[in-house]
Amino acid sequence: MQTLEKVSVDALPLMEDFYTIQGEGFYQGSAAYFIRLGGCDVGCVWCDVKESWDAAAHPLVDVAEMASRATKSGGGIVVVTGGEPVMYDLTKLTSALKKAGLRTHIETSGAYPLTGTWDWVCFSPKKFKTPDSSIFGVAHELKVIIYNKSDFAWAEEFASKVNDNCQLFLQPEWSKEKDVLPLIIDYVKNNPRWQVSLQVHKYMNIP
Ligand code: SF4
Repeated sequence: MQTLEKVSVDALPLMEDFYTIQGEGFYQGSAAYFIRLGGCDVGCVWCDVKESWDAAAHPLVDVAEMASRATKSGGGIVVVTGGEPVMYDLTKLTSALKKAGLRTHIETSGAYPLTGTWDWVCFSPKKFKTPDSSIFGVAHELKVIIYNKSDFAWAEEFASKVNDNCQLFLQPEWSKEKDVLPLIIDYVKNNPRWQVSLQVHKYMNIP
């Protein structure tokens, strides 16, 4: 697998970009332009975008071109996701998006230190690669994927590390939803500072 050096770059490997509805977490239901960067070395066994892992499989696209396409969508929010976007220096990407008047949101496992200027940071830790501790203080949202019962205790570990005003979400892993959603519902009722997050875009059959 190819990973790029974390230096400030004008172009990044782009797997896909599209205008849709944010299906998860705090901004669930909001129109958003997604920029899915290629490249990920986290290796989640249940990953549903494994085709994103190999950065070399995706064309390098200029950040100004990405911002221009996002602007044409007419939406105000851009969600940068992957893959694992923090593998790269995102300073030039966020500066191009900001210059275009767009809100910058990111979804990351926090595997590497965050770069760039962000209006919203969704931190979704993964058991397969320990997050860099620098993400804890900048996360606006903690979204933990629940795959089995032991993940609740693991979620609490991170909840104790993020800021007090960080929004807390528990989201069933898609293939385990039938088994774990009832557990999540009970957990949230007993621990109401958490909220349920569902991947509603999958119910709407949109990307
Ligand atoms: S961090 Fe995201 S893209 Fe990478 S393996 Fe995990 S789920 Fe897949």
